[in-house]
Amino acid sequence: MQIVEPSVQVVGEIDANHILTTLERIGRTCYKSEHKIGPDTAEPFIRKILMAGHGESVIEHITLTVRVVCDRGVSHEIVRHRVGSYSQESTRYCDYGDKGIRVIMPPAIRTFYDAICSLPDQEIDNHTDLQRARDIYTSWRDAIKGCEKAYMDLRSHNVSPQIARSVLPHALATEIVITYNLREWRHFFRLRIAINAHPQMRQVANQILEIFRTALPVIFESGI
Ligand SMILES: Cc1cc2nc3c(=O)[nH]c(=O)nc-3n(C[C@H](O)[C@H](O)[C@H](O)COP(=O)(O)OP(=O)(O)OC[C@H]3O[C@@H](n4cnc5c(N)ncnc54)[C@H](O)[C@@H]3O)c2cc1C
Repeated sequence: MQIVEPSVQVVGEIDANHILTTLERIGRTCYKSEHKIGPDTAEPFIRKILMAGHGESVIEHITLTVRVVCDRGVSHEIVRHRVGSYSQESTRYCDYGDKGIRVIMPPAIRTFYDAICSLPDQEIDNHTDLQRARDIYTSWRDAIKGCEKAYMDLRSHNVSPQIARSVLPHALATEIVITYNLREWRHFFRLRIAINAHPQMRQVANQILEIFRTALPVIFESGI
């Protein structure tokens, strides 16, 4: 079993100037005000129509694509968003029988692991909070290793990956490419960085938002 970190990568380039000038030209169709387009008019125009509530449909004309590595629990939450396109690593066709599984350790479990990983057993045994941290971490690790072993055993009996996958854990790392239009991205962030969203979902959503906000602050500034 290999532990990997969640990650996010934009597919292609975010050409902010092209995106903003395209949106301005599209948006001004509504008012036939294309003659007002100048070198610095795109950003204020888009900010104005977004604040007026009208711009949400205008920004649907542009899509952004990201490649995300997360666990299967998080990816299942992502694909609940229907206004988008996905391509995801398939547990039917991908075979983890050779190298073992890649998993994502939840940050909450990592906290316990970090607390005990460099300590000798004797020291852990002398502190109840450290014993608890060790118990929590080992429960998680043993469960994942058990899943991996069951998968490997099934594969060694020639059970196909698509059947053997039923023993794989939520923690299994997956790669998913996501395309949403800008309106859906804003909707996604509103739901998925909120305090009541799953912590690992928030972690991934915040990574994407940080990239988008840097490239396109007018679309993804605070108050999305
Ligand atoms: C904190 C949190 C907890 C959750 N818990 C659960 C849970 O326990 N169980 C569960 O099943 N799901 C749960 N979800 C998923 C949630 O119910 C939605 O399926 C998911 O967030 C997708 O969001 P959405 O439906 O707003 O929008 P999207 O699918 O992203 O669509 C965007 C918007 O388009 C419109 N739209 C899309 N499709 C339709 C349609 N068919 N008809 C009308 N309008 C449409 C809506 O306005 C929608 O808001 C949870 C989500 C969050 C954020």
